[in-house]
Amino acid sequence: MVNHYFQNILTFRDKRLFSFISFLPPDSPPYLCPAFQKHFNKMTKPRILIAGAAGFIGSHLCDRFLAEGYQVIAMDNLLTGDLANIEHLFKEKDFEYYHHDVTKFVHVPGKLDYILNFASPASPIDYLLMPIQTLKVGALGTHNLLGLAKEKKARILVASTSEVYGDPLMHPQTEEYWGNVNPVGPRGVYDEAKRFLEAITMAYHNYHQVETRIIRIFNTYGPRMRLNDGRVLPAFFGQAIRGEGLTVFGDGLQTRSFCYVDDLVEGIYRLLLSDYHLPMNVGNPSEITMMQFAHEILDLVQNPKAFIDYRPLPVDDPKQRRPDITKARTILGWEPKYDRKEGLRITYEYFKVKVQNAG
Ligand code: NAD
Ligand code: UDP
Repeated sequence: MVNHYFQNILTFRDKRLFSFISFLPPDSPPYLCPAFQKHFNKMTKPRILIAGAAGFIGSHLCDRFLAEGYQVIAMDNLLTGDLANIEHLFKEKDFEYYHHDVTKFVHVPGKLDYILNFASPASPIDYLLMPIQTLKVGALGTHNLLGLAKEKKARILVASTSEVYGDPLMHPQTEEYWGNVNPVGPRGVYDEAKRFLEAITMAYHNYHQVETRIIRIFNTYGPRMRLNDGRVLPAFFGQAIRGEGLTVFGDGLQTRSFCYVDDLVEGIYRLLLSDYHLPMNVGNPSEITMMQFAHEILDLVQNPKAFIDYRPLPVDDPKQRRPDITKARTILGWEPKYDRKEGLRITYEYFKVKVQNAG
């Protein structure tokens, strides 16, 4: 908020300065002087770096921050992302794309007010296939972005996950719960990378006074998810639309709580602009078993050929997961607006086209 206040003052002073240089009356609005318009924007609009911008959540964040009047620098190495998610933004004057791997030194010329660290493989299939990249982006990538935040005096928000709770023994999960993680199991590469991300972020906050925010995201879904990323929702939609078996792992009694992406983006936006630096859960507390979830998708898609197909439960698959969102409710005034019926209806329209295009 303070930032915006100073930016307003700057606008007024810059206007006077530039109108003087360009021999215009001091109260001329900047649009009378198009040559300086770009320069005004650079000096006055908040500038945000979004790492992981070509991914599912990152691309929605680009849309949101551009709509809020920010200059957006999108950074990605396309490890699991897709330029198609942000293709529509390349024509925007306040949008820039840097192809870069954040595990390497990150350089961004000019001022930066905010950084969002959303770079990381996120689906179990992705991080099982790319365990070292997952560990490196959580550790080295986060370290580089924190260093950049320190250098630029920018506020940084990092994407953590409900996976830091592992296979939780406390239910629902509050932020005070320390978790039950197997560091050497197959999911350990993701869970421990994110636990390190939280630890180093707190260290930069405490020792370098960097302004940090940590969000613990619970299962999120919506348009721009990859059809074959292995997560349960794209898997079930793809299978139901094609008339195949819905691969329910184990007995299907394990639970998850699914949040629609627009709700998550609102939570991220509010947390970034808040004063709260400790980890915060953001997710939809409506909990469902994977068996019930498969039936919801079957009911929605109505393909008579689709059926339930039981498969073995993956190692260390958490049995239950549901966020306690008391903090988000009380501190951010946030809560999810989309129920699963509405979110799934929108997402179904997206996956119908995806499956069609995949042939
Ligand atoms: P995603 O795979 O769609 O997006 C991740 C993006 O990061 C991709 O575009 C990928 O190319 C990019 N990336 C990976 N490594 C990189 C590197 N070294 N340098 C630059 N870019 C890199 O996944 P998502 O679902 O959008 O998840 C985004 C973030 O949110 C991740 O940090 C993830 O851990 C976190 N998160 C997501 C969920 C969820 O339900 N989607 C839940 C909890 C946490
Ligand atoms: N799952 C399933 N069938 C699938 C994919 C996943 O039953 O084809 C289950 C998985 O075992 C887990 C839940 O769905 O219990 C959510 O899995 P996902 O990979 O989406 O995310 P997670 O919460 O495990 O990271």
